[in-house]
Amino acid sequence: MSDDKRAIDPWNSTLPADYETLMAEFGIEPITDELISAFPSTHRLLRRKVEFGHRDLLRIVDSIRRNEAYAVMSGIKPTGEFHLGTMMTAEEIIFYQSLSDKSVAHYCIADLEAFADNGIPLEESHEIAVGNVADLLALGLDYKRAYIYKQSEERLVQKLAFIFSTAVTFNMLEAIYGPKQIKYYLSALIQVGDIMLPQTEEYGGPKPVLVPVGIDQDPHIRLSRDIAKKFKFVPPSAVFHKLTRSLLGEEKMSKRNPMSMMTLSDDPKLAERKIWSALTGGRGTVEEQRRLGGEPEKCVVFELMTNHFIDDDDELRKIYWECKTGARLCGDCKSQLADIVSSFLRKHQQKREGLMDLARNIVEGER
Ligand code: SF4
Repeated sequence: MSDDKRAIDPWNSTLPADYETLMAEFGIEPITDELISAFPSTHRLLRRKVEFGHRDLLRIVDSIRRNEAYAVMSGIKPTGEFHLGTMMTAEEIIFYQSLSDKSVAHYCIADLEAFADNGIPLEESHEIAVGNVADLLALGLDYKRAYIYKQSEERLVQKLAFIFSTAVTFNMLEAIYGPKQIKYYLSALIQVGDIMLPQTEEYGGPKPVLVPVGIDQDPHIRLSRDIAKKFKFVPPSAVFHKLTRSLLGEEKMSKRNPMSMMTLSDDPKLAERKIWSALTGGRGTVEEQRRLGGEPEKCVVFELMTNHFIDDDDELRKIYWECKTGARLCGDCKSQLADIVSSFLRKHQQKREGLMDLARNIVEGER
């Protein structure tokens, strides 16, 4: 199996080298300027094509235009603190939820998958989930138009997974996911249950559902779309973002390698230190960098600015050209980014602290 194909796996850390080949291979549509302009407003992830591909995103555009109901669905595996990769998905849910007052957000806490994949007992993941939901609220989710639940406590998701299992074979699962232990196939069926939940009668019946995810989750989307057709649901739409690289650039940012990820609970000083040791696209010496310019395309620091921390497009363009022409050195970028990140973390952590009680009530089903 090629490295790129291996990257399309929800349970591994490989980064794809070439998104375009993957799109062609798996039939993913590109995000075009025309599509972006069809939305009533944009987000930096969409404008900058960090969200680079989709399946049936026009269905959501149509729902917004016609002022009809749609759902945005995603979630988190509660195995640790929110990191920049999980923050990206949260920002997408918040953005697509905000585009219409007819939208509803479904946010799944994948505690069954955390148990199956990471061996985390449900009591432990419960406490982690409370913190994760506080992060989500602090980032701006409108929780009054959202359904946040744990997989282990949503019986309907489990029932759907069981029903859907009647329509899949081992061969189908192996063709989509490769050979895996049963626990992964079961987790996949539960995820299909999560994705289809907004279309059940209990949640308002069939409707378009948008799932914003990393490209590594596409197998779940393909399986869900196959199953949707068999059970007369609307095939879910998806928008795919590029995977957030680890700070050292060698794989996708994941909780499996804490030292090369940045979490929203990091002490701001620690986060600054991590930025100072992140991979850049700088040259070997100052003289070389002044003469040849840097390589922002390879630079994790520039990626952090693009994907997460600099909203102003003109500012980002200026940094890019200053880097390319050698007018800027990596120390300039790291110092600027360290200031932005530590200020963001201080404000975010203060907000999060104030939302912990609400988050607990939501996770424990008391609001
Ligand atoms: Fe990256 Fe900035 Fe260095 Fe360019 S100057 S390679 S953008 S850190």
